[in-house]
Amino acid sequence: MEKINRTTIEDITLYGIGASPGIAIGSSYVLDRTRIKPVERSIAPAEVEAEVQAFRNAVGISKKQLEDVKRGVADRRLAEHLHIIDTHLLILEDQLLVDGSISLIEGELINAEGALKRTLDKFRAVFESIEDEYLRERRSDVDSVGERLLRNLIGADQQSLTELEQKSVIVAHDLSPADTMQMDKTRVIGFITDVGGRTSHTAILARSLGIPAVLGLESATALIREGLPVIIDGTSGTVILNPSESSFREYLDKKQLYEYRERELHGYRGLAAETLDGFRVTLRGNVELAAEVELALREGAEGVGLYRTEFLYMNRAGTPGEEEQYLAYRAVVERMAPHPVTIRTLDVGGDKLVAGIDLSDEANPALGLRAIRFSLQEETLFIDQLRAILRASNHGKVRILFPMITGLAEIRRCKELMQKSMAALTAEGHSFDAQLQIGIMIETPSAVLISELLAQEVDFLSIGTNDLIQYCLAIDRGNEHVAYLYEPLHPAVLRALQMVCRAAQSAGIEVGICGEMAAEPLYALVLLGLGFDELSMNASCIPRVKRIIRQVRRVETVELVTELLQCGTAPEVLQHLEEVMQRRFPDIFPFTA
Ligand code: PEP
Ligand code: MG
Repeated sequence: MEKINRTTIEDITLYGIGASPGIAIGSSYVLDRTRIKPVERSIAPAEVEAEVQAFRNAVGISKKQLEDVKRGVADRRLAEHLHIIDTHLLILEDQLLVDGSISLIEGELINAEGALKRTLDKFRAVFESIEDEYLRERRSDVDSVGERLLRNLIGADQQSLTELEQKSVIVAHDLSPADTMQMDKTRVIGFITDVGGRTSHTAILARSLGIPAVLGLESATALIREGLPVIIDGTSGTVILNPSESSFREYLDKKQLYEYRERELHGYRGLAAETLDGFRVTLRGNVELAAEVELALREGAEGVGLYRTEFLYMNRAGTPGEEEQYLAYRAVVERMAPHPVTIRTLDVGGDKLVAGIDLSDEANPALGLRAIRFSLQEETLFIDQLRAILRASNHGKVRILFPMITGLAEIRRCKELMQKSMAALTAEGHSFDAQLQIGIMIETPSAVLISELLAQEVDFLSIGTNDLIQYCLAIDRGNEHVAYLYEPLHPAVLRALQMVCRAAQSAGIEVGICGEMAAEPLYALVLLGLGFDELSMNASCIPRVKRIIRQVRRVETVELVTELLQCGTAPEVLQHLEEVMQRRFPDIFPFTA
C-alpha cells in the first residue's frame, strides 16, 4: 500500500472506532513496529541448552525493561495504570508461556523463536474464541508481551515514545501499555491505531488522560507517512489525512465548540444530581480496571456502583487467590473512600470467558453455568473471593453484589457462605465490616417477577439492564442479527423496571441500575420517574446525565412515565420520549423527526 504524503490527494477520510472523544489536529508520528516474523527452525540436541538460555535471557531482559518503565512513571494519572505493567510481568512468569516454550525447545527440538511463536499461537487461539469484546481485547496484552520477548530474543530495538520532538498524533499498529506509559504526554495530542477497540488499554488510557483516539483503522500505519498532517475526531471515529484548508477550518471550529461544551459540563462535576424540586439521585461509576477509579472521581462519581471483578481473572493460567484479590479490592476501596464501592462477585460464563477457568462447552452459554451459578458450584473459589471482599471492607465502605440471581435459594446460600467466611475470618483475627450491605443484580425475568420476595432478603437491588433486556426480550445481546430487537424502551422492559422499583420501595431498600441504560441521557427522565435511587454508569457519562437531572422537576418525570406506559410498542415509546426531550432540551437532543 502506498503511503500518503503532503503532495498527494487531500482530505482522505478513514473511519475507525471513536475510542476517546475530542478533536486533535497536528502532524503524525509513526511508531514503526514492523511486525517481526519469528522463524522456526530445527535444532540439534547440542543446541538445546543455548536456545533455552537465550529464551531465559530474553525473559529476564523483558522483565527488566518493564520494571524500568514502572520506575520511570511519575504522573499520577499514569501511575493508576501501572497494574497493566504488573499484568505483563505476570504474563512473563506464566508457566504456560515460559515452561511451555522451554518444553517445546527441548521436546520438539526447535529454536527459541519458533517455540515462542507456537506458544503464543496457542494463547491467541483461546482469546480468539471469546465473544465478549472486553475480554477478547485482553489478547493484546499477550501480543504485547510476545512482541517484546521476540524483539529481545533476536536483539531488535524497542522503539519508544520518549523521544518526541514536537506535539504529535501517534500512529501505530497497536500501542502497548509500556509505550503509553513511557510517552511524553505533553507532546502527544492524539492516538491512531490499526487495531484495538473501545475497551483496549490504549482506549482506557486515552480517555483517562483526555487525549482523543481513533482505533481499529486497520491500515493507518500502512497509509500514513511520518509528519503527514492529520485531523482526528475521537467522538465520531473519523480521521482525515492531509486535510484541505476548508477541513482545517471546519475542524478547528468543531474543536473549539467541543472544548467549550466540555468546560460547561465540567461545571456539573461538583454539583449534586438533584432535581429542581429537591429529589436526589446518586450517580456512581462502573469500573472494570482499578485505573478507572481515577476517571470516576474526576467525573464526580459518588462511589462505584458496579466493580466488575472478572478482569482480575484474565490474562493468566490460574485464578487469583484471596490475597491478590484483597489487595486489588483494597486499592479501589481506599481510593474511593468515603464513597462506597459495590464489588460484584465473579460473573464468568455466558459471553464472559476467562483463560484460567475451563467451562465445559454449552449449547446455550447465556442460559448455562454462569455468574452466581458457577460461584455456587465452585465454592472454594467463591469463598476466596468473599473473604477478599470482606477483608477489603475494613478499608472503606464496601457493598457486595451477586450477579444473575434467579431465586431465593441462591441468595440464601450466598448469605450462608458469607456468614461462614465471616466466622472464619474472625477466628483468624481479620477485621471486616460486619454490617456490609448485600445486594443482588436483577437480570432475569424470574428475579423481576419475585423482586418483592428478593427485596426482603437483601439491602439493595441493582438492575443489570444489559442482561435483563436480553432475557426479557429473548435477544442475544451480542448477536448482530437480532440487534434491531434490542429495545430498552420496550413496554415489557419498562414494566419490569417499574415492578422492581416498586418492590424495592415497599421493602424500604435502595434500587439502582448499573446496565448501559443508566448512561444514556435520553433515558434519564424515565429512570428518574420510575424512582431509581442510584444510576451507575461509565463515569464519562455522569456529567451529561446530571445536567439533565438538574433541569427537571421530579413530578414531571413521574407524569412522563405514566404517559410512556400507555404506549403499546417500543417505537411509540421512543417517539413520545424523543418529542418530550427535544421540547425540554432542544440544545441536547436536536432530533429532526
Ligand atoms: C448488565 O447485565 O446490565 C450488567 C451490568 O452486567 P454485565 O454487562 O457485566 O453482564
Ligand atoms: Mg449482566
